[in-house]
Amino acid sequence: MTSWISGLVVSGEIQCNGCGRMVRHPERYAYVSEDNKPPQRLCEKCSRTRGLLKKRRDEKGREMETFL
Ligand SMILES: [Zn+2]
Repeated sequence: MTSWISGLVVSGEIQCNGCGRMVRHPERYAYVSEDNKPPQRLCEKCSRTRGLLKKRRDEKGREMETFL
């Protein structure tokens, strides 16, 4: 099975498939696509819960979160 995740910025409005919340621009969301399943859109909170969003430090030591 293959799956891929992309981190996108909401344009307009989408509904999170995890918690059902409406997510609006300019929030980020994860677009998760797996074989034989409908794609899922997850808000940052749900992405974090599922371990799709990781805290990293950039070269200047600033903390940032990026999608896998
Ligand atoms: Zn959510």
